[in-house]
Amino acid sequence: EASIYVFVRVARLGTRFVLVLAEDRTESYRLEEVRRDFVANVSHELKTPIGAVSLLAEALEQASNEPDEVKRFAKRLSIEAERLARTTHEIIELSRLQASDVLQEAAVVDIDAVIAQAVDRNRVAAEKHGIALVSGGDAGTEVFGDAGMLVTAVHNLVANAIQYSPDNSRVGIGVSHADGVVEIAVTDQGVGIPEAERERVFERFFRVDSARSRNTGGTGLGLAIVKHVVQNHGGDVRVWSHAGSGSTFTIRLPEAVNTPAVATTLGATT
Ligand code: ADP
Repeated sequence: EASIYVFVRVARLGTRFVLVLAEDRTESYRLEEVRRDFVANVSHELKTPIGAVSLLAEALEQASNEPDEVKRFAKRLSIEAERLARTTHEIIELSRLQASDVLQEAAVVDIDAVIAQAVDRNRVAAEKHGIALVSGGDAGTEVFGDAGMLVTAVHNLVANAIQYSPDNSRVGIGVSHADGVVEIAVTDQGVGIPEAERERVFERFFRVDSARSRNTGGTGLGLAIVKHVVQNHGGDVRVWSHAGSGSTFTIRLPEAVNTPAVATTLGATT
């Protein structure tokens, strides 16, 4: 159902000739549509938790004489507030990434350090579910980019791997490099992703099973953020999965091979 939008200008040249200028506006129409969808999604995603917070606050007020009820509502209130905070944070992050594909703080980044930080930030969640985070592979690889953004990207993959895995399973984070490409693979033994949905998981606000993800507190923005970070670095992200027996997400980035020319190449491909 692809449409082409053409902007046509007609000008008369003397009495015999007419000049017709056609300009392809498909891309700008598409971007406008994407922007409108984003705004609609954002308002929906924010209104839901805001509505819940208001209702729960009201319920709390009315239950003030029953300590057990107060406890129950307060607990749910804090869960909704946390969800609201996370969604807001991710929307801002994604907007920032979309606003510019130029890396503001680019430097040579040590991938081992990126993985160590991403793993560290997930340690508490992993321990809570008895999940082992096992990292390994080629040491000492480097890329050119923004360390903070790269930590966010790997963090999101590891957080998902934990979130969609059974207790006491294992999440692997592996690094390899070949032919000027660094590959970071995050593998889990979790629920997997049905084939029909595999490509869509990188879309903003997309959740494979919204009921399931909502229970686990998902926003549907984590992988969209990963995709943007990786694209801004001139790389790509892919997924392999068997529904029911786990997934592997792979980030590939141009390796920094101690030449400043890498910076130029990256700029050209984003
Ligand atoms: P969410 O906040 O819902 O996790 P993401 O953008 O990170 O949003 O992921 C989008 C959807 O992709 C998730 O809702 C989930 O259904 C699916 N998904 C992501 N990672 C995994 C994984 N490791 N295993 C199974 N499903 C996953």
